[in-house]
Amino acid sequence: MSNLPGNADIIVLGAGVAGLSAACFLSEAARVLVLERESQPAYHSSGRSAALYIRGYENPVVSALTGAGAEFLFTPPVDFAEAPLVHPRGSVTLAEPGSEPALARHLERWHAVCPGLTTIMPAEALDRVPILRRECIAAAAYDPDWYSVDVHALIMGYRKAVLRGGGAIVTHAAVRGIRHSDGLWHIDSSAGTARAPVVVNAAGAWAGAIGDLAGLGDVPLAPLRRTAVLVPAPVGYADWPVVHTMAEDLYFKPEGNGLMLCPEDEVPSEPCDAQPEEIDVARTVERFVELTTLAVPRLLGRWAGLRTFAPDRRPVTGFDPRAEGFFWLAGQGGFGVQTSPGLGRYVAGRILDAAPADPAIDVARFVHA
Ligand SMILES: Cc1cc2nc3c(=O)[nH]c(=O)nc-3n(C[C@H](O)[C@H](O)[C@H](O)COP(=O)(O)OP(=O)(O)OC[C@H]3O[C@@H](n4cnc5c(N)ncnc54)[C@H](O)[C@@H]3O)c2cc1C
Repeated sequence: MSNLPGNADIIVLGAGVAGLSAACFLSEAARVLVLERESQPAYHSSGRSAALYIRGYENPVVSALTGAGAEFLFTPPVDFAEAPLVHPRGSVTLAEPGSEPALARHLERWHAVCPGLTTIMPAEALDRVPILRRECIAAAAYDPDWYSVDVHALIMGYRKAVLRGGGAIVTHAAVRGIRHSDGLWHIDSSAGTARAPVVVNAAGAWAGAIGDLAGLGDVPLAPLRRTAVLVPAPVGYADWPVVHTMAEDLYFKPEGNGLMLCPEDEVPSEPCDAQPEEIDVARTVERFVELTTLAVPRLLGRWAGLRTFAPDRRPVTGFDPRAEGFFWLAGQGGFGVQTSPGLGRYVAGRILDAAPADPAIDVARFVHA
């Protein structure tokens, strides 16, 4: 028996931050149905992120998409969320002995996008984060333009907008079959069958599998596992900036009642409910203890999530040139939260208003008609 609310104008597959943000903006002018396999939205990557907004991140394309969503995140519509979605956090980049040239290149690379990014004396780094070991700081930089995102509020805001626009989000709806006939996509799921002329593939690490179901599986997307560890924090930690190493092998930041540590690992994985490996957890703590004076007597938590990348580490979006009405929204890597308003609005523009494609993020760079 089907519990789906009939047909829709657009069916979005996946209720992570990508699918929900697209559905939010699409709902302004279309009847949207979101299908999610799990019992709740954001169960996978979107609920496991570091929740950061970093203006100068990954590459110029991602950076521009991040900037495109800034206005929405910093001044959301009045009825979107009850409290601010972003909070200032800042970041300290740590260059250990030997990494000074890499820090100089980092400053050069991001200077135009992050005008506040400047070098600071080791003493200032210590002043901002007193647990750092002095001997580990050969040089440092500070960037005020890093923010914490309230991901729960963001997800709830997107969800509310979909429902208010007359759309529906159906959980426990695992998509098992996808076929196109008579101008409609027929989506078979564990909650029943739904039909729409347009389908948006926002299935995160499973976007490739959804492509396979539709017979379009050769878009290169690689899920990479990333580990996170939560350790007890000392007094006064709550306002600390994010600290990240120039070697890109650790960052840590205040998170709830502790410090979240991340080894910035990227381990190829099948799409799955990712779990942390003990060895990665141990190495993360070891590296943290090397850089700081804080003892870690116990862990408060640990988790892992998948970050899914195209080879050029840019999103994969747009209508598949081989299949009418099949829209890709995948490859959000480590920036899916911060780019979600920019990408969500872009998707709505492409689908509802036939806005031109941005070749830098279009699926056409990988597949042809
Ligand atoms: C440790 C870590 C730190 C991160 N830090 C940041 C950060 O600071 N800032 C930032 O912007 N990003 C960060 N990210 C990246 C960010 O979390 C992702 O880019 C983003 O969550 C991807 O969203 P998504 O909606 O594409 O994927 P997901 O959240 O995984 O959503 C995809 C959904 O599709 C559903 N689905 C899959 N297959 C099917 C099917 N067959 N039928 C129905 N539903 C299906 C899944 O159940 C899932 O809910 C981080 C990620 C990790 C793991």
